[in-house]
Parts: sequence; C-alpha cells; structure tokens
Amino acid sequence: LVVLEGVNKWFGDLHVLQDVNLSIARGEVVVVIGPSGSGKSTLCRAINRLETIDQGRITLDGMPLAQEGKALAKLRAEVGMVFQSFNLFAHKTILENVTLGPIKVRKASKSAARQHAQELLERVGVSAQAQKYPAQLSGGQQQRVAIARALAMEPKVMLFDEPTSALDPEMIKEVLDVMVELAERGMTMIVVTHEMGFARTAAHRVLFMADGQIVEEATPDEFFNNPKSERARDFLSKIL
Ligand code: ATP
Ligand code: MG
Repeated sequence: LVVLEGVNKWFGDLHVLQDVNLSIARGEVVVVIGPSGSGKSTLCRAINRLETIDQGRITLDGMPLAQEGKALAKLRAEVGMVFQSFNLFAHKTILENVTLGPIKVRKASKSAARQHAQELLERVGVSAQAQKYPAQLSGGQQQRVAIARALAMEPKVMLFDEPTSALDPEMIKEVLDVMVELAERGMTMIVVTHEMGFARTAAHRVLFMADGQIVEEATPDEFFNNPKSERARDFLSKIL
C-alpha cells in the first residue's frame, strides 16, 4: 500500500533519510523506533508530503504522492496523521473539528459528516464532549479526538508520531487502547512510539532507525528478544 524506494533526504549537510526502502502492506501495523534525531518524524512527514524528498520514490496504492493543489489535499486526507501535540482547532468544537475536513475536502453533506463524526467520537470514547472546545478536554481526550478527526477522512493509512509522549501516564493507555482497536480492525498503521507494550501487542513488524537508516527490521518478538545489531541492543538497554 505504501512503498518507499531509494528515498534520500538532506537538511543541508545532514543526511536525514539514507536510502530508505520500505514496503507496507494493506492492514499491516509497523512500529518505528530509534534514537532521537534518527529520522523517524521525517520519514512520517515524507509519507504525507509535509516534507519533500530529494531522491527516490514514494507511492501510495501504486500512485506517486501528489505534489500540490487539490490532489495534495486528497493525499493528506488519505494519509491520516496524529502528532505528539494534538493540533486540534482551538476555536472549533470537538464535533466541528471532526466534521470540517469531510465537509471541505471530501465534500460530505453536513448531516452525513455529523453523523459519521458522532459515530467516531463514540468509538474513541469522547461522544459526551462533542459540543465542548479542545481546551476543556484532557490531553488523552484531545488525542482521541485527533484520531477521530483523521479517521473521519477515511484514510488508507494512519501515521502516528509519538502520539502518547506528551500525555500523563494515566492517559496513555486510553489512547493506546483506541490504537490497538484500530489495528485490530485492519487499519494500515505506521506508528512511531517508544511504547513497547503497544509494539508487542499490535505491531506486525518493528523498524529500528538510526542515523536516517532502517538498521533492523523484525517481528516484535525477534526484535525485543534477540536484536541483531549492536545499536538496537544498546538502544533497547536504555529504554527497557
Ligand atoms: P525524535 O525522536 O527526537 O522525535 P526523530 O527520529 O523524529 O527524533 P527527526 O525529527 O526526523 O528525528 O529529525 C532527524 C534529524 O533532522 C534531526 O537531527 C533533526 O534535528 C533534523 N531536522 C528535522 N527537521 C529539520 C528541519 N526542518 N530543518 C533542519 N533539520 C531538521
Ligand atoms: Mg520525532
């Protein structure tokens, strides 16, 4: 579904993505881990074209990523993204946050968008908050709204960039539970996280990145029990 071939990117002299080759199947859940600065966020951002790449090719469903205009807006809808910071529209209600994209980009009718949004808010457990504003919700609730907002666009793939790292411990689980449920429903997911519990439960594959390269690729079992590279062993010894 998502294919990266020979992807390279530089920020000035910094070679932030080094010949990345990656193929993600429909329904696959891939967890990306690695030290700070290894290029995990840049990889995600390249896949929904928040960043351009300097070399190589990225395709979604066999099509090269759209570069501009309406096609780019459609791409952003098809590649849902959830960030560390919740990025909700502060001056819109929760319900409006979720209906805005479908109405503007997907050309959904208001009533259809509202109905779908209510269903999604229910699914992530915040339907009682629909008329509130983001600041009135906890971080965990806001992040679940951010997930619902991305899902409202009916994405082909969901990218999560450290979705729980800005949350208080007691809120992490409620967000991870929503993500596990999404994985079980067969959503294609790329998840940057250091939540090893999530990786073990939900991931089909773990990618370990260091210095802009995918250094290791394995099932969660293989990776956590028997990491092959020195760098991965070193990294795991620090976080586990
Ligand atoms: P973290 O775990 O800290 O989130 P990361 O693996 O997500 O790290 P990236 O954010 O992808 O890493 O950054 C990779 C490298 O690129 C870092 O050295 C970072 O400083 C650099 N970088 C990221 N964005 C830019 C930018 N817009 N301009 C210049 N350098 C950047
Ligand atoms: Mg990052």
